[in-house]
Amino acid sequence: MKQWLKLCLTGVTAALLLMSFAACGGGGEEDASYVPDSGEKASVTCPLDGERLDSPASVGDYVFIVSIENGPDSEPQTAIGEADLLIEVPVEAGITRFMAFFYHHMPDSIGPVRSARHYFYDVVNGYDAIMVHCGGSEQAYNVIENTPVKDIDEISLSGPFRRVGGRKAPHNLYTSYKDLRAAADKRGYGAVSLDDCPAFSFLTEAEADELTFGGVSELSLPYRYKPVRYEWDESAETYQRYSDGHLHMDEGLDEAVTADNVVVLYVSSSVIDSEGRLDMDIDAGEGLLLQYGRAIPITWDQQNGRGFSFYDAEDGSAVKLLPGRTIIQVISPDRKAEYTLSGGGED
Ligand SMILES: [Zn+2]
Repeated sequence: MKQWLKLCLTGVTAALLLMSFAACGGGGEEDASYVPDSGEKASVTCPLDGERLDSPASVGDYVFIVSIENGPDSEPQTAIGEADLLIEVPVEAGITRFMAFFYHHMPDSIGPVRSARHYFYDVVNGYDAIMVHCGGSEQAYNVIENTPVKDIDEISLSGPFRRVGGRKAPHNLYTSYKDLRAAADKRGYGAVSLDDCPAFSFLTEAEADELTFGGVSELSLPYRYKPVRYEWDESAETYQRYSDGHLHMDEGLDEAVTADNVVVLYVSSSVIDSEGRLDMDIDAGEGLLLQYGRAIPITWDQQNGRGFSFYDAEDGSAVKLLPGRTIIQVISPDRKAEYTLSGGGED
């Protein structure tokens, strides 16, 4: 597969830097004509998307998880196609919301920002992340007020947020990585270094090269308000995301949202109030990983308190992700994902 071609550019940059360093005689006794076989050893990897980075300074000090709306009048959102990791989670009335992670991707515009739910913090704490939102349910405020979470809420700290023109409230609240970082600095939240950030297991270059397309060209997730579909794009070797039948666009990128890994997590929920708000525990369960045409039944957990782990449902071995964009889909087990093989078979 050609997956690695698009990820190697930063590695090449690192190789060029190394070459110029050697050429300047920085290595002392090193042969000035020595050319490293690749930039791999000098580069580091983003723990969330497996992208090669030039240096540890390529990440942005904090992991922010921004609550981005996906209900009526929310599309097109900005920066969901750029997040280091994107999680879609059910909220009330059949609608969903995104938890968009930003670590080495640091967009100037992120939104529309909406309120938090208490079960979002099941994920936030595992990544030592800062939850970014505008308001929240009563249960969410219970968590914020009674547990040591890192949190930036527009209701109490409006500085990092702005209302944009051309959109009606509440669909017009946006933020940026830079403004969030300034707010986190002021709050004295500790930075999250590359070593501190929980990392997914990624396939190596050799392992990714050996993969052959598994034939799954389409995956459907029957969310009640906006069903989601992923369709294989053969030329780009990635899945394109469809929301309620249309290509799901990112307004900031002016591109469709894509995924190299789609991870389905089955999570049961119960309704807890007259608004239809939900209670759920995003802690462990069954699921499915879609990756390069392969649909792999998995189990998953967050039991070590260090982010998500995925295992092959058959033999319990750790399942690795393709370097690139991962979208995690939290969905009720009575709304099973369905996939289609290129040859027309279904499951
Ligand atoms: Zn990244």
